[in-house]
Amino acid sequence: MTFTLAIIGRPNVGKSTLFNRLVGKKLALVDDRPGVTRDRREGEARLADLRFTIIDTAGLEEGASATLEGRMRAQTEAAIESADAILFMIDARVGVTPDDKYFADLVRRAGKKVVLAANKSEGKKGEAGLVESYELGLGDPVPLSAEHGEGLGELYDALLEAL
Ligand code: GDP
Ligand code: MG
Repeated sequence: MTFTLAIIGRPNVGKSTLFNRLVGKKLALVDDRPGVTRDRREGEARLADLRFTIIDTAGLEEGASATLEGRMRAQTEAAIESADAILFMIDARVGVTPDDKYFADLVRRAGKKVVLAANKSEGKKGEAGLVESYELGLGDPVPLSAEHGEGLGELYDALLEAL
């Protein structure tokens, strides 16, 4: 089985941290669509016996629009378009923000398979955000700590279930 997974979410939730953990090394920038996906990175991810292509978006596109939504939208939509499945990430310590809801709507409208990850869930500080994340309507959240490598077994199970 081979597939492409795009990590989607507002800046600072931990997307690149998870990307680096699953790919295991830093990769050169991918620059296939200047102005749209300039900061997008692709790599070959390993998670137990799964091998898949993973896409990380920087989430900030200069010049396209003054708003966060406008700057992120084109890049996010391009990543969603080229993926078979989406890993939608929130920061469980912050909870669900208006930006999270905006990008969750984009993901939902794309009609692709989605796994919801509540990152920064190490310790107890993410519990309220984890519960709150059900309101995004993207299914049951997987508590994750990209930084500490926790929750990867649950992420594996959720991916297999979604695919
Ligand atoms: P991105 O903007 O979504 O790509 O987020 P980054 O991967 O750049 O991470 C943003 C910040 O969150 C950095 O300071 C990371 O070290 C931190 N971070 C990422 N994952 C975790 C995590 O699991 N737990 C905690 N506490 N911090 C994290
Ligand atoms: Mg990043």
